[in-house]
Amino acid sequence: MTKSEKIFEEAVRFIPGGVNSPVRAFGSIGSTPRMIARASGAKLWDEDGKEYIDFIGSWGPMILGHSHPEVLEAVIDACARGLSFGAATKIEVEMAKLICDSIPSIDMIRMVNSGTEAVMSAIRAARGFTGRDKIIKFTGCYHGHSDGLLVKAGSGAMTSGIPDSAGVPSGCTRDTLTASYNDLDSVEELFRQFPEEIACVIVEPVAANMGVVLPETGFLEGLRYLCTKYGALLIFDEVITGFRLAFGGAQEYFGVRPDLTTYGKIIGAGMPVGAYGGRREIMEMVAPVGPVYQAGTLSGNPVAMAAGFAQLSILRDHPEYYRELNEKADIFFKKLSVAVEAAGKNYQINHIGSLGCLFFTGEPVRDYESAKTSDTARYADYCNYMISRGIYLAPAQFEAMFLSMAHTTEQLDHTVDVAMEYLAAEEGNDRQQ
Ligand SMILES: *Cc1c(COP(=O)(O)O)cnc(C)c1O
Repeated sequence: MTKSEKIFEEAVRFIPGGVNSPVRAFGSIGSTPRMIARASGAKLWDEDGKEYIDFIGSWGPMILGHSHPEVLEAVIDACARGLSFGAATKIEVEMAKLICDSIPSIDMIRMVNSGTEAVMSAIRAARGFTGRDKIIKFTGCYHGHSDGLLVKAGSGAMTSGIPDSAGVPSGCTRDTLTASYNDLDSVEELFRQFPEEIACVIVEPVAANMGVVLPETGFLEGLRYLCTKYGALLIFDEVITGFRLAFGGAQEYFGVRPDLTTYGKIIGAGMPVGAYGGRREIMEMVAPVGPVYQAGTLSGNPVAMAAGFAQLSILRDHPEYYRELNEKADIFFKKLSVAVEAAGKNYQINHIGSLGCLFFTGEPVRDYESAKTSDTARYADYCNYMISRGIYLAPAQFEAMFLSMAHTTEQLDHTVDVAMEYLAAEEGNDRQQ
């Protein structure tokens, strides 16, 4: 038995499933988690001392690589001055100013402690601002685990959301309408049905929680048009894409301006941070200025702000990092697709910038329906092989691969070689002639 296995055996006695967030349990690939002991650059080490090339990066935050010296230094400095005051601090102002100065759609921003909280609060602000209750989300997009967003995959005919989790009262999802990603007609249909009741449309501008699914040309522009036409707000959930696709996130990358934006992950550099921001008149609805209540004992925590501010400052000061990272990622995903083809497989690779995903399906993936055609048992087999060979991939098909500035060409080429080994040996599912 490995040390990881021993620790996990104990973990399940005291923590539900042995983990503090479900995907970490490795349940969907039918194995048990490696207990991670430390990380540096693009590498992780588990409790058994085994080394991995990491393609999770804490699910996004580690865009500079793990344990970046300047980020660590900022955190250690902040710790020495006190862990939390529950009072206003200068670093919060610096953080807010950095973001407002560099993101044109954001005049004001509020810090919270997670992406879940950011989205929940942004939706509350949108409802408060518009005086409307209904929201539209897309099937397959994830926006955290707040009650109103845990909605079952809908069909076109379904207008009232059904909870996708036990413990969520149906009243909480009654006002959540679902549309299909990349399908503007499904959105317009809902607007026609409820022209004056929809407060906002919330979307991952690049969907990265059903694997990676890119917005088709015109999709985000179409959402902007429909929201403006019907007096609803457009919320970009940039918890993953923010400060990743470009410093200005997906809104800069695609040139579409949302009314509100939510952040998480990269913004905290690995500390628990989320944020929501946007147009001044919407953000001035939030307490203590306006009537929309939202608060947090540890919001804007000085240590978390120090980490996030250090990482965002580095990213802002080095625009070339994005070019380098995106070029490196383009080459990596190109080589991976050549490997897939050389092995005679028809699997799909979706990729944009430093995000990507290998779907075990022959069907192009453009929404939740097509993502679901992926053979998850094959993904499980592939993933277990890769992890056993020191390539740490997300232990579930419907997650992204996250590349960081710290990944070297050697590490990426080695990863392609290991994937090629697996694919060449894999039986069946060969490319149809
Ligand atoms: C991770 C994620 C969230 C939730 O963030 P947490 O910090 O896990 O609460 C929300 N939206 C998107 C797009 C995410 O990827």
